[in-house]
Amino acid sequence: MPKSNRITAYADIPAKAWNDWKWQLDNRLTTVEDVVRVLNPSQQVIDGMKAVSAQFKLSITPYYANLIDMQSAHCPIRAQAIPSIVEADIVESDMLDPLEEDRDSPVPGLTHRYPDRVLLLITDVCSMYCRHCTRRRLVGQEDRTFDPTFFQQAIDYIANHPEIRDVIISGGDPLMVSNKKLEHVLKSLRAISHVEIIRIGSRLPVVLPMRITPSLIKMMRKYHPIYISTHFNHVKEITPESAKACTMLADGGFPINNQTVLLRGVNDCPHVIKQLNQKLLTIRVRPYYLYQCDLSKGISHFRTSLGRGIQIIEALRGHTSGLAVPTFVVDLPGGGGKVPVMPNYMITRSDDKAVLRNYEGAITVYQEPHRWESICGHDPACEQQRYKSKSGPAMLLARPHTILEPQKRKLNADEKG
Ligand code: SF4
Repeated sequence: MPKSNRITAYADIPAKAWNDWKWQLDNRLTTVEDVVRVLNPSQQVIDGMKAVSAQFKLSITPYYANLIDMQSAHCPIRAQAIPSIVEADIVESDMLDPLEEDRDSPVPGLTHRYPDRVLLLITDVCSMYCRHCTRRRLVGQEDRTFDPTFFQQAIDYIANHPEIRDVIISGGDPLMVSNKKLEHVLKSLRAISHVEIIRIGSRLPVVLPMRITPSLIKMMRKYHPIYISTHFNHVKEITPESAKACTMLADGGFPINNQTVLLRGVNDCPHVIKQLNQKLLTIRVRPYYLYQCDLSKGISHFRTSLGRGIQIIEALRGHTSGLAVPTFVVDLPGGGGKVPVMPNYMITRSDDKAVLRNYEGAITVYQEPHRWESICGHDPACEQQRYKSKSGPAMLLARPHTILEPQKRKLNADEKG
């Protein structure tokens, strides 16, 4: 970023320092005083920050702080970065661990909820503490970094579970650890033959794009296939720096998927999401999920209705490239996992016909095939798999005469009140 595009507090920082991710980390805004010095906020904003920063940690990279417009109460960057008094409002539905990741954790730092994939948390540290973070119970609380003992337990667990074919490395932000430690993680996972793909969830391409260096790319390329999940929420976050970071990752052969969180006052508008997603495609980032905001403590002011998410998808599907249409999902409170929520395109159906409507509202009859038999069951390998690894409605469809019975589970602390 040329010096001319920097705010006064950063105008004299030499380009070499500004573009160095370690300088950016060393100079993060971590106190109310730092924010006052750099961004000169109003007294009302200062009071709000003071009221909540003891409870929820504050950290903003200089790069991201430079994108904030303090003159605008509606700046989407400011809303994601600057603590606000509304975080002190803890409403009845707020939960400490809304996704119950701790419940499904067989060893510290590992969540095994879905049959064939796990979530591996390798650090609690982020470069910036997003005000809407779901994992605020963990990230930024103690700044625990990579723990070799817990990590080895997680690796042993994955090695002993051959059904795990997909490992999602997250945190905190996993790209906050050194290249050497990250290489240790990737190498350990690649030594397990049944791990087919690795995903890295990182917000650094958005809030600290300087972290994407040639040496990081060179190291990670040795452990393909690796996918990147990143987290752009607004088109203002797509800058020459973040575009360059994504280009480097894409050129390195890492497919990049974006997971936007639907946030009131930041992006809860069909136009804003459409603009973001179209722009993401130009930097080779695929809009993957639009997340309903979770029920984490102190973030209820960011929540919108589910209806708003459906309205946004309605405004995208058919109105822009299919590639720009993410799946709108709700991560169910209580650890039920992700559920896609879609506008309803099927109006009704019979044995041989389906009545569907398109994005313009045109209603069409789709004739089902008259004679149709699946090859499913004709292939011996398929037959063998038929009753394996099926649960939920997929099991009901695969087996004759089966019922699903809800399982009793213990109430968590939030539910006990
Ligand atoms: S980068 Fe991700 S984990 Fe870290 S604070 Fe932001 S949302 Fe939370």
